[in-house]
Amino acid sequence: MYRTHTCGELRGTDEGKNVILSGWIERIRDLGGVKFIVLRDRYGKTQVVVNPGSSVYSIVNNISREDVVQVEGIVRKRPAEAITPEPTGEIEIVASELKILSKSELPPFYPGDDVSEEMRLKYRYLDIRNPKMMNNLILRHKLAFATREYLSNNNFLEVETPYLTKSTPEGARDFLVPSRLKKGNFYALPQSPQLFKQILMISGIDRYFQIVRCFRDEDLRADRQPEFTQIDIEMSFVHMEDVINLAENLIRYIYKAIGIELPEKFDRITYNEAMEKYGSDKPDRRYGMEMVDLTEFFKNSDFKIIKEVLERGGSVKGFKANIPMSRKIADEYSEFVKGFGLGGVLWFKLENGQITSTTAKYLENEYKAIAEKYNMNEGEVFIIAAHDNRERMNEALGALRLKVGKQYVKVSGFDALWVVDFPFLEWSEEEGRFVARHHPFTMPYIEDLEGGVELSKVRAHAYDMVINGFEVGGGSIRIHRRDIQEKVFDIIGLTKEEAKEKFGFFLDALQYGVPPHGGIAFGLDRLAAIAAGVDNIREVIAFPKTSSGTCLLTNAPSAVTQFQLDELGIALRQNQ
Ligand code: ASP
Repeated sequence: MYRTHTCGELRGTDEGKNVILSGWIERIRDLGGVKFIVLRDRYGKTQVVVNPGSSVYSIVNNISREDVVQVEGIVRKRPAEAITPEPTGEIEIVASELKILSKSELPPFYPGDDVSEEMRLKYRYLDIRNPKMMNNLILRHKLAFATREYLSNNNFLEVETPYLTKSTPEGARDFLVPSRLKKGNFYALPQSPQLFKQILMISGIDRYFQIVRCFRDEDLRADRQPEFTQIDIEMSFVHMEDVINLAENLIRYIYKAIGIELPEKFDRITYNEAMEKYGSDKPDRRYGMEMVDLTEFFKNSDFKIIKEVLERGGSVKGFKANIPMSRKIADEYSEFVKGFGLGGVLWFKLENGQITSTTAKYLENEYKAIAEKYNMNEGEVFIIAAHDNRERMNEALGALRLKVGKQYVKVSGFDALWVVDFPFLEWSEEEGRFVARHHPFTMPYIEDLEGGVELSKVRAHAYDMVINGFEVGGGSIRIHRRDIQEKVFDIIGLTKEEAKEKFGFFLDALQYGVPPHGGIAFGLDRLAAIAAGVDNIREVIAFPKTSSGTCLLTNAPSAVTQFQLDELGIALRQNQ
C-alpha cells in the first residue's frame, strides 16, 4: 500500500494512528538534529519529523526537494507553539519508515518560484505542482462538472461531434488535417460544432450540450489559444428568452458551485446602447465613467476644431473621471485616441471650484455648463472628443475609458450582463463584402430585412453574455428555413454554387422538418480565468500554447519525416 491517507487529510483527531503517506518533498529543515520534512501532494502538505535516534535517520541525508517518498509513522499533535493555520497544521507524523520512491534531479526551479512563463510552460509538470496552478485546474474541473450536472438535470444530452470534419467557417482560419486515404483532400478541425449541433436539433435531440475543444487558426493575440474549450449548447422550440434564461441559470449555478454569487438577474442592454455608453460591446461597467453626448453644449462654439466637426454633421462626446490630469497626461491620451483616427482629446478639471484646462479660455462657458449638468465634484476631470464618425469616436473614447479605468479605478465583484440586438452584418474592408457578425446561421430580424432597413443596420437575434468586461459567451436564434438561409448566403456574397459546395449537406437537412432552435456557447477557459481571478487563460489550461502557437513542453508544431509526408502525398516547397 502506497498510502493510507493523503497529505491534506490528517487532523488532530487522528492522533496516535499509524499512517502511510506518499508525496513530494517540499522542504527539509534541520532543527538541532531533528529533521522536519514537508511532504506535498495534490491535497495538501503534511509535516514529518525524523528523530536522530530513528532507524530511518540516515535516509534523510539522501533525499532532496522534489523526490517522491513514502513515509510511515505515528500521527502526533504538535506543541501549541508549533501549530500552523493550514488544515494539517495541528499534527505531524513521527517517521518510522522512509522510502525513496523516485529521486529528482536538481529541478530548473521549484514549484511556485518566481520564474518566467517560458520556464513554467517548458517544465509544466513542475509548475502544476504549485498549489496555485493545481487549484486553478481543480476549479476548472468543478466548473465543468457543475456544467454537466446542471445541463443533464435539465434534459440536455451530451453528444460528441467530430473533430475531423469539413470546415464550417466562423470567421477565422481553419486548421487543416491532410487525408492519407484521399490524398489531396483535407479535414478541418472544427471552429465550433455549429452545424452539427443544429443538425442534432433537426434530428430531434431537442437539447444538446458538449464541453468541446474548438480550433481557430488566428494570429494569436496575447490572450487567445489556437485550441480552446467551449460549453456548447443548442435547444429546440425556443425563443431568445428561453436560451437567455437557461444560460443565465447555468452560469449562476456553476459559479455558485465554486462559491461565487452572481446577481439574481443579469442586466440587458442593446448593442447600440453598449457602444454609445461604453464604446464596447463587452463593457466592464464596474469602472463607471459612462460616455455621454455633449454635442448640444458646443452648438454655438467658435472653437475651430469642434466647429468644423459639427459643421460636417459630427458630434461631441466625453466621460467624467476621477483621475489625475496634466498637460502631459492629456498628450498621452491624445496620442492614444489618434491611434483610432481621432484628432486628440480635450479635457477640463474642476479645481478649487474653477474650471482648469489648457482650452479654458476658448471653452469656459461650455465646460461650466457641462460641469453643472453632470454634477462634477472637486478634482474630477471630463475627457472630451469630437469627430464626424460616431462609431470611431465611440470606439476610441471607449478604449480610453478602459485604459483609464484599468489604471486608476480599483474594481471588485462581478458585473454580469447581456448585450442583445447585435447588427446582423459587418462590412469587411478586406473582402469588400458583408460578413455575418456572429455567423451566417443566425436569424436576422425579418422585419428589418424585409422592411427596407439598410443592410448594415439589420439586427440579429444574437446575444452575448459579458462578465467583468469579457465576452464569456455568445449565441443566437438560428435560421430554420432553407429559403432564409439561402437568402443570407446570398447577402454575404456566396454564390448558389459556393453555398452548395460548402453547406449543401446543411441546406439539404433544412428541408426535412426543422424545429425553431437556438443556442449559445461559453468559453470555459475564460469563465475559469475570471473565477480564478487571473488575467490570462493560460493560467487555467494545463498545457497551453504560447502566443506564437507553440507548445513549449513538446515543441509542437515540429517537422515530420519525409516518410510521413510521402504517405500524405505532400511535398514541401523550399525556402518557406
Ligand atoms: N458557435 C458559436 C461560436 O462558437 C456560438 C453559438 O452561436 O452557439 O461562437
